[in-house]
Amino acid sequence: MEKILNYINGVLTEPVSGKFFNNINPAEGKPYSLVPDSGAEDVAKATAAAQHAFAKWSTSAKDRSAILVKIAELVERDLDKLALAESIDQGKPVTLARSLDIPRAAANIRFYATAILHESATAHFTDNEAINYTQHTPIGVVGCISPWNLPLYLFTWKIAPALAAGCTVVAKPSEITPMTAYLFSKLCIEAGLPAGVLNIVHGVGARAGQAIIEHPEIKAISFTGGTVTGKTIAATAAPMFKKLSLELGGKNPNIIFADCDFEKAINTSIQSSFANQGEICLCGSRIFVERPLYEKFVAEFTERTKKLIVGDPLDDETNLGAIASEVHLNKVLAYIELAKQEGGTVVQGGKQVKLAGRCADGYFLEPTIITGLSHTCRTNQEEIFGPVVTIMPFDSEAEVLEYANSTTYGLAATIWTENLKRAHRMAALVKSGIVWVNCWLLRDLRTPFGGMKQSGIGREGGFEALKFFTDEKNVCIKL
Ligand code: NAD
Repeated sequence: MEKILNYINGVLTEPVSGKFFNNINPAEGKPYSLVPDSGAEDVAKATAAAQHAFAKWSTSAKDRSAILVKIAELVERDLDKLALAESIDQGKPVTLARSLDIPRAAANIRFYATAILHESATAHFTDNEAINYTQHTPIGVVGCISPWNLPLYLFTWKIAPALAAGCTVVAKPSEITPMTAYLFSKLCIEAGLPAGVLNIVHGVGARAGQAIIEHPEIKAISFTGGTVTGKTIAATAAPMFKKLSLELGGKNPNIIFADCDFEKAINTSIQSSFANQGEICLCGSRIFVERPLYEKFVAEFTERTKKLIVGDPLDDETNLGAIASEVHLNKVLAYIELAKQEGGTVVQGGKQVKLAGRCADGYFLEPTIITGLSHTCRTNQEEIFGPVVTIMPFDSEAEVLEYANSTTYGLAATIWTENLKRAHRMAALVKSGIVWVNCWLLRDLRTPFGGMKQSGIGREGGFEALKFFTDEKNVCIKL
């Protein structure tokens, strides 16, 4: 089986322990490659390399931009290869990896590579007494830790602003989906990225990840993952006064008013419910429908969901591929059981799918729709992160706002209405970092991205992300 290797100081290398663990293809339920079981010693080596590389890397934005653009071009050149690898590793349809994950990975890098060519500094004139100007200097070595749902997409969403800002990086992709980060390290070598600028340490969160959080020379942590992990990370990093950016879980409301454009609302809601097997932090898992439209919506939404094809991720016809891991499949199935115990009716799906041929042992699940639940039950309060949605009726704006804002999360919300005033009213009152009106996942990389409440702290995207990786300094010059 192919061995994935760490990328430390410009070299592909085995972990110090010499140990590897299996990387599972979720569509087959079988191991297909090996992941380095790295620990503190590997992180120490990576950090030392990053410290050494920092002085040179942090000096010229023009040079950084040129090499990052080259890496983005190589990602685009290898689009098909990377999309296939992502699909095999994660279980997502290869069509999705080809149209979303890999193009977005290239866009992330190009966006920050070019943004740094257009930065400006602010100045403050203090009457005729002084001029103040603000400098942003790269913070040093930073840690970037990413999850398994959009592997290369979210990995690059962190490392691109970090590297563009002039930091050097110790990064860890999810141990469940390490393959494209490994292929990416080969592209960095091909592009001539100087040794030690980016270091990728593979391994499990509790060892390799925790070692990154604990390393005293890693000055900032950018983390995307679950809220429980985010709490552990904050507990370790906060007393060390590390800068923290935490992008965590969600339980996003999808609010559909009776005056919506029905076709658009229903088609996009199918996407926002089941794209990537519902394993997108921005998926709308709680659908609230205004009562006059409720019966029609449930009937039509169910009808269209039935037509979705759960199948081999490598088949172009497939709409939903495999769930990323067996552990996750069992978690999602347990939530479907919980929903039944809580009095919910499974109107569609709810069961594992058994495919024939090479996918016979894969982790497939029917897209699932549940009705008849209260907004306060656990099914409607806890993140499931799979192809499972609940649908509930509502009668007024005030009522649906209470439902929408009732969870501990506040990542994203979608509102469907043709009434512009209502759209503004609702957008102002929904407690979410991102609100989409009459659309979903329409992303402009310049906008702030992140959640309220337990969905995280800090914002990614735009110049915000570049700022995160810098120290801000005011220089006051007496006239
Ligand atoms: P996770 O928290 O289990 O793991 C995320 C990453 O953290 C992995 O690389 C893991 O190895 C690492 N990790 C685990 N324990 C660690 C520790 N103690 N110290 C350092 N690193 C550690 O999350 P997951 O299951 O991979 O991803 C799913 C979660 O991510 C969901 O909750 C989802 O909502 C969230 N997510 C959020 C966003 C967002 O932008 N807000 C985007 C995607 C996913």
